[in-house]
Order: sequence, then structure tokens, then C-alpha cells
Amino acid sequence: MDLPELLRSQAKRYRCAVCNTNMADCGIKVITQQGNRALVRVTCASCNDENLLQIIFQTDGEPIENEGQKVPTISEGIPPVPDPISSDELLDLRDLLSAHQGGFRELLERR
Ligand SMILES: [Zn+2]
Repeated sequence: MDLPELLRSQAKRYRCAVCNTNMADCGIKVITQQGNRALVRVTCASCNDENLLQIIFQTDGEPIENEGQKVPTISEGIPPVPDPISSDELLDLRDLLSAHQGGFRELLERR
């Protein structure tokens, strides 16, 4: 199962914070993925509200490449990392991305 598929399978458990539509049909775009962390943009199919989500895979220490037997699950709540991205930082990133023209590579090079 690849990442967008995994996210899709989890999305129906959530509802849009703005219009309360079930997120099963939402748009999912993986912005970046590194190790067991990924940043994805989820767009509500009903009201087009966009949210950036930091996803932490729970792999029980196994390399993520071994996902054949063990499907990683998406953690909920506070991620178990020393410095999780704060909501303020996510809002900044959201503003940055919405104003940005071009690909993600250009975005990184600009910093
Ligand atoms: Zn919505």
C-alpha cells in the first residue's frame, strides 16, 4: 500500500473542520516524505478547505520498506517527536505554500 492509498483509507475516519463533510472523498497530496514522517495537504471535496497534516508512521522500529507484511498506521494526537511542528508553524507554511508559484524544489531552494 503506498502513502496516498494509506491516507485515503484513513481519511474516512475524519470530518472537515469547516463544513463537517466526511473526508473520504477529499483531495490528498503528499508534499514531502522523509523516513517515517510525511507532510500532506488534504483538500475538502465539499468546501475546498485545505489543511496541512504531519503524518507519523508507527512502524515499531521496522524499516518502512518492510511494509509488505505490516501496514503502518497513522498515529493520532501529539506525535512522539522531540519538537513537533506547532500549529503556528503549520499556518505559516500554509500561507507560504498558498503564495508560492512553482514546485516544491524551488520552495526549498528559496529558503
Ligand atoms: Zn469542508
